[in-house]
Amino acid sequence: MASEPKVPGGAYAIGCDIGATQMRAALSDRGGDLLQRAAGPTEPERGIDDAAGRAWSLIVEVSEGVGRDEIAGIGISAAGPIEPSTGTYNHPPNLPGWHGRTMVPYLRNATQLPVRVIHDAHAAAVAEAKYGAAQGLKDVVYVTVSTGIGGGMISDGVPVNGRHGMAGEIGHLLIDTAGPLCNAGCHGCLEVFAAGGGSAAQARRLAEGGGAAAMLALADGDPGRITGRMVYEAAEAGDSDAAAIVETAVDALATGFANILATFDPGVLVVGGSVVVGDEAVRGLAPYWDDLIGRVKSRGLLRFRDEVPIVVSRLGDDVGLKGAAAMAFEAADSTDD
Ligand SMILES: [Zn+2]
Repeated sequence: MASEPKVPGGAYAIGCDIGATQMRAALSDRGGDLLQRAAGPTEPERGIDDAAGRAWSLIVEVSEGVGRDEIAGIGISAAGPIEPSTGTYNHPPNLPGWHGRTMVPYLRNATQLPVRVIHDAHAAAVAEAKYGAAQGLKDVVYVTVSTGIGGGMISDGVPVNGRHGMAGEIGHLLIDTAGPLCNAGCHGCLEVFAAGGGSAAQARRLAEGGGAAAMLALADGDPGRITGRMVYEAAEAGDSDAAAIVETAVDALATGFANILATFDPGVLVVGGSVVVGDEAVRGLAPYWDDLIGRVKSRGLLRFRDEVPIVVSRLGDDVGLKGAAAMAFEAADSTDD
């Protein structure tokens, strides 16, 4: 195995977040503060080699003015499935043509720095354990509820990857197998009931049957343009069709979270993503949060009746960058001694 370039010290690390639509990089200090940032489109159709070159440009940009010997390494938070030890993609659905390829050797050569890869949901769990809602805990589950639902776990401080780097597909926990088919092939999984995309699909089906008037109005009359955000907006405005879809989401999430707590016994389950956190105009699940936790209490294991270890993430969009940088620090510290 090729040895990695040795870097003495390292007050900084670089976190990269390579998503399907956007790639970002940031210079992080050891407190998790992001000091310099750069971003650009991923444009996966241009190929992984082209994307690697542009990722390198972002890394150069955020490390301007910092000596290479001050940088502990580079952590890459990647939209999986990916094999973390090599950074090799495994049929990534939103990165066509990237299967079987990795940008790690290129970035190692170009930067002369150690490069580590972590699945984006695991990066989020690491960031929460280091800087966020799970500080000081070593057993953490992170679930993101946005267009889709994903998850990552760290057990005794170490990401749980599974044989193919695909552990943590929490979106495909089965809730009611009589439910709709999801595009990953399962029936009635958490994602079809509770993800923003799943809620939008339910609204579209209602609209095509002549219902969902309030959501249709928000989408300028085009069912195809209804989004999850519009469902929550209409529900907050008192629309009963939208409220029923949100009720479905809350109930499915309560069952899913009760299953996760029973399976993993986490110190805390941290929940993030746009549907959970919302924004200034549309609050997402926030108005329903106490109801959701109440349902977890009443249907989960007895030991969760008094206290349910579930909290909302406060790290926002930076969770992948911070987790990737934290992992680069950890890797540097564990090989330097
Ligand atoms: Zn599914």
